Amino acid sequence: MNKKERDQHKTKLLKKKEEIIHKLRETFNESKEVESGIAQDLVDKAESSYTKEFLLTLSNAERERLFLIDEALKRIDKGDFSICQMCQKNISKKRLDVVPWARYCINCQAKAEEEESL
Ligand SMILES: [Zn+2]
Repeated sequence: MNKKERDQHKTKLLKKKEEIIHKLRETFNESKEVESGIAQDLVDKAESSYTKEFLLTLSNAERERLFLIDEALKRIDKGDFSICQMCQKNISKKRLDVVPWARYCINCQAKAEEEESL
């Protein structure tokens, strides 16, 4: 993956993150600033009670999504964004276009989901 593609994915991820936070801010109906690194420290590690309160209003799916987006952004900076975290193979471009925060390739994702449902 070249730099241009990485930048495109990064922009996409940041936009998605903004969208989620924006949507949640609206539902939370508060004007206070929500810390931008919100997903890095999830509830138990949250420093301010405000952040904690905010995170508790997120559904599990939203929290998980924010977490995955942050993880993907870290991987972009590290340079292993398109590498499957399980089998170390490349995740297909097509998959990353649809799910830019994907941690696993399609095969490992299926495996992970199977294990989760056990
Ligand atoms: Zn894999």
